[in-house]
Amino acid sequence: MALNQSGWRPEMNAGGADDTATFTGNRALMLEEPLIFEIGSADTTGVDFDSVVIGRPQVGNLYRDAPIGLPGLSEGEAIRHYTRLSRQNYAIDLGLFPLGSCTMKHNPRLNEKVARMPGFADIHPLQPQETVQGALAVINELAVWLIKLTGMHGVAMTPKAGAHGELCGVLCIKAALKARGEDRRVLLVPESAHGTNPATAAFAGFTVENIPATPEGRVDLAALRGRLGPDVAGVMITNPNTCGLFERDMKAISDAVHAAGGYVYCDGANFNAIVGKVRPGDLGVDAMHINLHKTFSTPHGGGGPGSGPVVLSEALAPYGPIPYSARYADGSFKLVEEESAGEEHPDTFGRMTAFHGQMGMFTRALAYILSHGADGLKQVAEDAVLNANYILRSLEDVLDAPFGGSGPCMHEALFTDDGLAEGFSTLDIAKGIIDEGYHPMTVYFPLVVHGAMLIEPTETESKAVLDQFIGALRSVALRAKNGDPALKSAPHFAPRARLDETLAARKPVLTWSEPAVAPGTPSLSEIGGS
Ligand SMILES: *Cc1c(COP(=O)(O)O)cnc(C)c1O
Repeated sequence: MALNQSGWRPEMNAGGADDTATFTGNRALMLEEPLIFEIGSADTTGVDFDSVVIGRPQVGNLYRDAPIGLPGLSEGEAIRHYTRLSRQNYAIDLGLFPLGSCTMKHNPRLNEKVARMPGFADIHPLQPQETVQGALAVINELAVWLIKLTGMHGVAMTPKAGAHGELCGVLCIKAALKARGEDRRVLLVPESAHGTNPATAAFAGFTVENIPATPEGRVDLAALRGRLGPDVAGVMITNPNTCGLFERDMKAISDAVHAAGGYVYCDGANFNAIVGKVRPGDLGVDAMHINLHKTFSTPHGGGGPGSGPVVLSEALAPYGPIPYSARYADGSFKLVEEESAGEEHPDTFGRMTAFHGQMGMFTRALAYILSHGADGLKQVAEDAVLNANYILRSLEDVLDAPFGGSGPCMHEALFTDDGLAEGFSTLDIAKGIIDEGYHPMTVYFPLVVHGAMLIEPTETESKAVLDQFIGALRSVALRAKNGDPALKSAPHFAPRARLDETLAARKPVLTWSEPAVAPGTPSLSEIGGS
């Protein structure tokens, strides 16, 4: 197989809308990149080892009975390979990331500096606790902030992401019902809830029942009240919900659920829209996860792990998981684990994680909180909501805003594909915006509207950045309304042209093998998209 210097082969651009293939396949500074197995070979190596004799012990009595088959490259080639790949990744450090529901905001470098301090980064969870008092103090101080900001009674710090936090909260509900000797099996989940909510409820063994949304995109309170009864364990409500709207009836919902003997789980992943403005505890919430990686910055998605602490009401706090960092009268800290739980936290449902949770996220989140202060956090929420409303109102004349009449949105703006030219859809707009240099918005979610486009600009974008994005999206939306045929084959300027999404979903190519040249074999462009 002949490869040129970057390893590009002509078929890699197969299916491209404009076949302006160059000798290298590169376009200006956008570099083509094959897999490392295609540029390195098992016969070459970047380092000088004594030649390995298969079957003869190399270290002690350890030996290989077959070559390992890893590609060998020089250091320079390996660095270029991974650097080229990294340049094909869109990132918040490159431009606005309009994904709705994900909260992709700027991650202050101060947080990174704090997380890398050796006292936090170089310690081990099995170290004696008297040697990691500072780390336990950080967990405890962050816990106190989360309890104060939410007006709740306790917090479970160990869950490692939003969905993991949901499971934690629902397991608390389960434990509380068991302690009451009640066998309630149904969790009510409104249509406007995040998809992880029904998944969590089902995973924890509950039966999920749907509650419809009103035409203005909020929970139908009458329908919810009508369904409450002795078989209902509680509700899981996303607030702000996935239509980007605040559930104004939250207090009435909580009162009704409590009166019927149930518990209120709130999906607080989007706490960034209300932090410092609303305390969920005042709205009757019993359990709510907070995505530290959304509200309190910290890189996530491809950039790092998440963390999903769960704040708990007085009714549910006794059932929260171990371990947790407790502060004692003498000022020392201790992780309450199995041995001490018997005296200090006897009703715990158990453990969700091996250790204390995501330390790197705790340090980043606390650094973010302390650098903003309570007033700064309030402004975070105000600016997030202001920016989303600016997008909503700037685009509603060219894109259908289904709940534009339901009052201001919260942290994200929702549009649909209604009103586009015949044959044009949300997908075409998402692909078109790639050619304008943006990652697409969240598409086809939430499911309550047709062809959803959900845009969350976050509070960290300036008006100039928002104006440029609005201008780009406006131009793509107008092309979709006018039926511009070139939009149907967008993107034209990305490393890969439009992929066959059906093929990618139905016949994913999940393992690498030497590309065959026979006709009908999936080309690398298809492999790249699956
Ligand atoms: C992001 C999100 C989740 C899931 O959080 P993960 O950390 O990805 O598990 C749940 N609910 C809502 C509303 C979200 O936005």
